[in-house]
Amino acid sequence: MQFKDIKGQSVIANQLTEIIDSGRVSHAQMFLGNTASGSLALAIAYAQYLNCQHRTHYAQPGPDGLRADSCGECPSCKKYQQLTHPDLHFFFPTTTTSSVKSSPSSAEFQTEFRDFLLQTQQCGSLDDWYDFLAVENKQGQIREKDADNMVRVLGLKSYESSFKVVIVWMAEKMNLSMANKILKNLEEPAPNTLIVLVVERSDRMLSTIISRTQLVRVPHSTAGGGQWAGEVLLRKESVEQFAQLYVTWMRQLFKLNMLSLSTWVDTLAAYGREQQKQFLLYAQESLRQCFLRNNAGLPMQIDFGDAKFNSSFPTMITERNIEGLDKAFNDAIYAIERNAYSKIALMELSFAISRQLKKR
Ligand SMILES: [Zn+2]
Repeated sequence: MQFKDIKGQSVIANQLTEIIDSGRVSHAQMFLGNTASGSLALAIAYAQYLNCQHRTHYAQPGPDGLRADSCGECPSCKKYQQLTHPDLHFFFPTTTTSSVKSSPSSAEFQTEFRDFLLQTQQCGSLDDWYDFLAVENKQGQIREKDADNMVRVLGLKSYESSFKVVIVWMAEKMNLSMANKILKNLEEPAPNTLIVLVVERSDRMLSTIISRTQLVRVPHSTAGGGQWAGEVLLRKESVEQFAQLYVTWMRQLFKLNMLSLSTWVDTLAAYGREQQKQFLLYAQESLRQCFLRNNAGLPMQIDFGDAKFNSSFPTMITERNIEGLDKAFNDAIYAIERNAYSKIALMELSFAISRQLKKR
């Protein structure tokens, strides 16, 4: 992965290449930001640049305003482009599948993960990864077995390049024993190693881990796309279905008709957990867009498929309720990810939205 292939992130890319050029590479870093914004792609491009034998420095700002990039041609870059470099190691959430029936870990899924990264240009989400593994309703983890493998990998001599790189994708999915086991590696790394934790939600990371890493905050890509990756990744039917569900829901919340609300909650709760989460991310993103339309005059990208709703609903989302709404959605998504009883979480969310809409 070269920086030039990551759209809309030249500011952070330039900061990263400068850090490497000035020899100030911190051995343990946390890239915080959405995968869809390129947080994982940036981590890989960063490692590729670090190990590139012929780094390119542009006399004039290069593609997309870049100051420098890896060459893409040297033996190290070629292996990085294929994600086959022997000193590049990935750890990521896994779960049991039809082929791995017990004690899964990243080691069992290396080929699948590489294929997934190449197919999604390293911008796929965790849900996309579960879809790729066809385990739609299971939640993965990064486990103690991964920690053991990581410690082993870090103890090995590097094969050919100057830096050995370990990337932990979605590090917030590390379970407690994994997290505790790697603390020592974060604190006292072997020489010439780089550990990058790619994280979407820092509030789900142990503070002992955060304090041992250097934070690289990856902004939303200026090329568009938030946590909800939208039409690009969702099938069109799902988007239309989501829009219908959403319009029905919001109309019920204005009337607060308990009977029809409870029927609606039953409908959504019957979906798989990942689908419920996708729907909530869609709803959360739509509120953000409504707010931006009101406050900054930005056009909506989401179409609710209902002309009256399209024009009237956004005016309900103002600076008086957007933060409360956003928080209510984060809480509900968190609860559903943690296998809480969906109906209760959805009911609580409905009441919270109803209260916030009155504050407009
Ligand atoms: Zn190179």
